[in-house]
Amino acid sequence: MKPCILFLDDDKMLLESMKRMLHKQSRYWNMYFMDNVDQAYALLLSMEFSVIVCDIGMPVIDGITFIELCKRAFPFTTRIMLSGNPSMATAIEAVNRGQIYAYLNKPVDASELVECIQRGIGHHKALNELKQNANNDGLTGLLNRKQIDKRLEQEVNRSKRYQTPLCILMLDIDHFKKINDRFGHITGDAVLKDIAKTIKKTIRQNDYCGRFGGEEFLIILPETGVETGYIAAERIRHAVAALTFHQKELQVTISGGLAQLSEENTTHFIEQADQMLYASKSKGRNKISAKGIKAYEQHSVC
Ligand code: GH3
Ligand code: MG
Ligand code: MG
Repeated sequence: MKPCILFLDDDKMLLESMKRMLHKQSRYWNMYFMDNVDQAYALLLSMEFSVIVCDIGMPVIDGITFIELCKRAFPFTTRIMLSGNPSMATAIEAVNRGQIYAYLNKPVDASELVECIQRGIGHHKALNELKQNANNDGLTGLLNRKQIDKRLEQEVNRSKRYQTPLCILMLDIDHFKKINDRFGHITGDAVLKDIAKTIKKTIRQNDYCGRFGGEEFLIILPETGVETGYIAAERIRHAVAALTFHQKELQVTISGGLAQLSEENTTHFIEQADQMLYASKSKGRNKISAKGIKAYEQHSVC
């Protein structure tokens, strides 16, 4: 996907000449030229931008204030300032308030601007990679343990404060050790990745999924009661059981434990889901057990 670049300047003529100057770059970048701050901000909210190039001198809201706002709302987007009246004082203010990446004087030279934006795109990519490595599990790309724990704490607090239902689902791959032993760890890793992808595809956008341990996944289902949670869990279980691999005889199933939050703290909440997971294992695996629904604690419903 091409990186998106936003140009914001109240001077329409200047925007037009910048557009002409950079038209060859449209092969590599998606460029948006805006002369209105509100529309520019709405656009920034609607998609991810790699770089913002913003003029300092603008009516209504000055460029430094706008860039300061962007720094808070979109901290990973590279911010470049253009100034028609360059001075050391405004440059220092832009650095201090907007933590800008570069400060360029108008009229700006085409090759200088292109080179600066290219470096800005690289900077944005590097920051995103850092964020991805800090928050996500390297193998599956799911949230890592620290992040899923953090999310759960937040969702538990939110559910208690607003009295909304919250479910968690603990999933564990059945007999995964045997899969590793028979097919090797590389295949085991591929199975983990495929299951993670399947879970991501099956859950809603507002749900969270993290790698809780080696072959265990924790799924957070906000605004979800145990009945709906059970349906979601069964959907995942079926989707995983339907996976096929290029080793024809390889078949993978998962077991799950579902719990709905009542008064307990986060640790006890996880323990409840764990207990249900162990119930599923002891009942023969490839099952979901749910705390709070007697039938689901006893049998699996297919
Ligand atoms: P159960 O059905 O009772 O859950 O049995 P199991 O074999 O899945 O459970 P057990 O806890 O005995 O073994 C888990 C296995 O998961 C052992 C470990 O080597 C494997 N495992 C954990 N993390 C990874 C990983 O990142 N890659 C691979 N390939 N295997 C992993
Ligand atoms: Mg396990
Ligand atoms: Mg297991």
